[in-house]
Amino acid sequence: MQSYIEIEGLEVEAKHGCLDFEKTTPQKFVFDCRFWGDFSLAMSSDSLDRALDYGEAAKIIADVTVNNSFNLIERLSKEVLGSLSKKYPYLDKIDLKVSKPMAPIDIPKKNVAYFTSLCSRPVYLGLGSSMGDKSSYIDFAVNALAKYGSVKKCSDKIVTKPYGGVAQNDFLNAVVLFNTFLNPSELLSAVNEIEAQAKRDRSVKWGDRTLDIDIISYDDIVMNTKRLTLPHVDFRNRAFVLYPLRQIAPDFVCPETGKSIQTLVAELENSAKTNGKCEIISNPSSDV
Ligand code: ATP
Ligand code: CA
Ligand code: CA
Repeated sequence: MQSYIEIEGLEVEAKHGCLDFEKTTPQKFVFDCRFWGDFSLAMSSDSLDRALDYGEAAKIIADVTVNNSFNLIERLSKEVLGSLSKKYPYLDKIDLKVSKPMAPIDIPKKNVAYFTSLCSRPVYLGLGSSMGDKSSYIDFAVNALAKYGSVKKCSDKIVTKPYGGVAQNDFLNAVVLFNTFLNPSELLSAVNEIEAQAKRDRSVKWGDRTLDIDIISYDDIVMNTKRLTLPHVDFRNRAFVLYPLRQIAPDFVCPETGKSIQTLVAELENSAKTNGKCEIISNPSSDV
């Protein structure tokens, strides 16, 4: 359920502006802010743990505003949104209006304001594990992701045969839909951090691993840098990605090719080049 908490008319005295006196003499800035997200647990539990602490949020806005001095309210907005999104990664969107009612303009009764919104972006992540307690590693990843965003959907965990001819063990795979404020590069660093916490060993390419997190797609972004390729360069050839992706995102469209998930699955199944279908060996919740 989508709803928002609103902070309205938060007044902070601070030194932002491009004129000299604005950098030395504080003036009033007024903030209106909407925090969009799923607050259904706060509603049902009546527990403070499940609610957004608007006192804390107001303090973050005030601290960023007082502890900096920018020329522009646009830049101030960016810093405020950056701090809020780091503190509340599970939100879907933050709307912000920064007003400067005493702006030095020679017109009475004026107000100057800047509006902006920061939206989280939808990302599909492929999770895989082929060592140790595989199911727990997948669960660990899902829980650890909460520090960086909001897991919206999880596929079933499926047992699959190793891909690429190196790893020996069967894999447990899943795909999750994740919303995040992080940009693609920050997200890659975050998932690498989670893999490191799971003691991921990269010494053998495509070898067995405790935990692998691939960014399958990041919203509609298509990019290819040394560090990151989006969508994932090989996801179309992997049944262990396409099947769970289809389960949670039957309307998924590849941002690079424009092909639907149904087409991608059909192409994979028809392709003589693939290693065959994804072999689902056992129910993931049973012993693996
Ligand atoms: P594969 O990427 O073929 O599934 P792998 O997951 O075993 O193989 P890793 O060792 O986990 O490979 O990653 C190798 C590098 O791939 C990473 O250091 C990362 O910089 C790069 N990379 C490029 N694009 C992506 C992406 N979309 N998601 C995750 N890593 C990516
Ligand atoms: Ca991988
Ligand atoms: Ca990987």
